[in-house]
Amino acid sequence: MSHLESIKGIGPRMKEKLNRNKIYDCFDIINRFPSKYEIYNLITLKDAIDNERITIKGKVTSVPNVAFIRRNFTRLSFNVTIEERDFKVSIFNREYLRSILDLGEDIVLTGTIDRLRNTFTASTLKLIRNFKNEIEPIYNLDGVSDAQFNKLFQLSYEEYGHLIEDDLPEYLIKKYKLIKYTQLLKIVHNPVTSKDLVKIERRIKYEELFKFQFKIQYLRLKNKSKKSALKKYDINEVKAFIKSLPFELTDDQKNATNQIMKDIKSPFVMNRLLQGDTGSGKTVVSAITILAVLSSGHSVAMMAPTEILAKQHYKTFSKFFHRTPYKIVFLTGKLSASERRDQLHIIKNNQCLIIGTHALFSDDVLYKDLGYVITDEQHRFGVNQRKKFREKGFNPDVLYMSATPIPRTLAISLFGDMDISTIRERPKNRQKVETKLFSNKQMDLVYMVIDEQLKLNHQVYVVTPLILESESLDLNNAQRVFSDLRSRFKNHRIGIIHSKIKQEDKEKIMDMYQENEINLLVSTTVIEVGVDVPNASLMIVLDSDRFGLSQLHQLRGRIGRSDIKSYCLLVYKEDSESKVRLEILETVDDGFILSEEDLKLRGPGDFFGYRQSGDMKFKKAHIVNDHKILEVARDDALEILTNKESYSRKEFTKLFSYLKSTLKKSNFD
Ligand code: ADP
Ligand code: MG
Repeated sequence: MSHLESIKGIGPRMKEKLNRNKIYDCFDIINRFPSKYEIYNLITLKDAIDNERITIKGKVTSVPNVAFIRRNFTRLSFNVTIEERDFKVSIFNREYLRSILDLGEDIVLTGTIDRLRNTFTASTLKLIRNFKNEIEPIYNLDGVSDAQFNKLFQLSYEEYGHLIEDDLPEYLIKKYKLIKYTQLLKIVHNPVTSKDLVKIERRIKYEELFKFQFKIQYLRLKNKSKKSALKKYDINEVKAFIKSLPFELTDDQKNATNQIMKDIKSPFVMNRLLQGDTGSGKTVVSAITILAVLSSGHSVAMMAPTEILAKQHYKTFSKFFHRTPYKIVFLTGKLSASERRDQLHIIKNNQCLIIGTHALFSDDVLYKDLGYVITDEQHRFGVNQRKKFREKGFNPDVLYMSATPIPRTLAISLFGDMDISTIRERPKNRQKVETKLFSNKQMDLVYMVIDEQLKLNHQVYVVTPLILESESLDLNNAQRVFSDLRSRFKNHRIGIIHSKIKQEDKEKIMDMYQENEINLLVSTTVIEVGVDVPNASLMIVLDSDRFGLSQLHQLRGRIGRSDIKSYCLLVYKEDSESKVRLEILETVDDGFILSEEDLKLRGPGDFFGYRQSGDMKFKKAHIVNDHKILEVARDDALEILTNKESYSRKEFTKLFSYLKSTLKKSNFD
C-alpha cells in the first residue's frame, strides 16, 4: 500500500535509486532524516573571523574568469565588494556559474575570508533572490539530490503522514518537554530557526538512547529471570580455602567475592563483569568462587583468550587446588585425536574444572553438570558466545573478567545488560612501578637502564608497535630491535615473540622467559594481557606515543609483580605532541582514571573493541557526551520494564512492538 511507486514522481528509475539507499517504501522516506544541516547564517564583516566558515552578502564587480587548472579542476574567480571593501573570490569547479554572475548582481557567499590578502574562498554561492533557507537539510543520499528527496518527503507525508504514531509514551514526551514525533517530522526536513534544530536534536537523542536502554534493560531483566541450577556450596570448604591463602583479601576483593557468591546461590542466572587492573587480584576472586561451585557438585569451565594464558591459568589453579579433591583438565586445540577423545570422555563423565581456550566451546565438548563459566579478558570474545555457554549447561552462571577498566560513563552503555563488580584497591604489598618518559634521542640512557637490570639478573620486556619494517610507518619494529639488542647485550639471552610466530614456538619462548632462560623479551603487544613473570622488573615501550594510556597501563601491569623494584620507560618521538598525554602515566597509577583520560582524549573508539555492536551506532546521540540523557533514559526504561502492568498497557503498545522488531534484527541473545 505504501510502496514507493504510489507516490507521483517515483518511477522505476527513482525507485531503484531509493532502494540503493535502503529506502523501500514511503515510510522509509518519511523516517529518513537529514544526516546533517548546512547552516547559512548571514553575518556582517565586523563579526567575520578570518579562515572560519561564514556566509556574507556581496556585489559582483568584475566579469568572472575561469581557469582550467587541470582535468576536472577549474577555478572561477571574480571581484566583489563586501560592505564597501573589495575582495577577490575563488570558487572551484563551478564554471557554470559564470553565466549568472552579471556585474552588479547581489549574491550570498559561503566560505572563508582572508582580510589580509583581500580574498574569499567560496564553497557555495547563491544569488540573493534564491537565498531563503538559512538551514538546509543534507541527506547524503546516493543518486538522489537533497531537493529531490525533500520533495519526495513532502509527497509521502501528505499521503501517509496521518498513519504515523509515536513510539515514545506521551508522559515521557511531556516529562522532558520533547516534541511529538509528528511535530518532529514537520520540522526535521525543513527547520527554520536554530531553535528548531535544538528541538530536533533533543527529541532524536532522547528517543535513540531511550530505545537503546529499553532494549538492553529488557534483555538484562530477561536474563536475570532465567533460572539456573541450584548450587548448594560448602561454605566451610570455601572459608578454609580463603584462610589457606598466604595473604588477606583486600576489601574490594571481599566485596566482589560476596557479590558473586550471592549470585551463585540465587536461583537465577548470573551475568557479571569483574573488572580491575592486572594484579588487582581478580584471579584469586575467581578461584574462591570456582571452588564454591565445585563444592556444590557442578563442573566449571574457564576460558582464556590465548593458549599461553590458558596454560598459565592451568598452572595457577593446579597450585591453588592441589589439596582439594577436584579434577582439573586442560583442553587445548592441539591434542592428538586420541588424547582429545580421552579428555572429552573425562569431561563428559566427571565433575571437573576445565581450563582452555575457545576449544572449550566446540560442539563435541560435553560437560557434566556445567554450572559456572568464567571468561578471562572477555572483550576478546564475541557477544554471541554467551548463547553458546547456555547451551553447554543448564544456564550456567557467567563471570567475565576484564583487566581494562571501563569508564563508568561507558560501562552503562557497553555493559548495561550486565552486573558489574569492580576491584580498585591493590594488594598492600604492591610497589608502585616507577614510570619515566624518554625521548628517542635518549636511547643511550635506556640501554644503561637495561644493562643495570640485566646485571641484577632481573628480566626485561621491550615492546614495539610493529613486527616488521613498514614502508609507510616510521616506527620501531620487533625484528630490528631484536637484532640490535642482541648485538648490544651479547652476554644475555634475548628472545622475540609476536603474533606471526608459530603457536608452539610462542609457548616455548614464553616458558623460557618464565624460567629466566630468556632474559630480555622483545615483543609486540601480544604480551599485553595476563602473562605473569614476577622476576621481570623493566618494561620498555618504544614509540609509546602510538598507544592509548590504558594500553600502556596494561603493559606496565606486566611488571611490579613481586617485591622487586620495577621501572617502566616510555620512549616517545622527540617531536611528538603526545608527551603531555604520556606524562599522566608518570604520576597516575589508577587504571580507572587513565581510562577516563583516554576517553576524554581519544574518544570512545578505543573501547568499542570490547563489544562490537551495531546497536551502538546512534545518529545524533553521543555515547559519552550525552551520558546524562543516557542515565535518565535508563531509569525511564527500567520504570516501565519492572512494572508488570506495562506489558498490557495501551500506551506502551508501540514501544513493545518496536522492541520485538528490533530484537529480531539484533545479535544480542
Ligand atoms: P589479576 O587476576 O587481577 O591480574 P591475580 O589474582 O592474578 O590478579 O593476583 C596477582 C598476584 O597478586 C598474584 O600473585 C596473587 O597471588 C597476588 N594477590 C592477590 N590478591 C592479593 C592480596 N589481597 N594480597 C596480596 N597478594 C595478592
Ligand atoms: Mg589475571
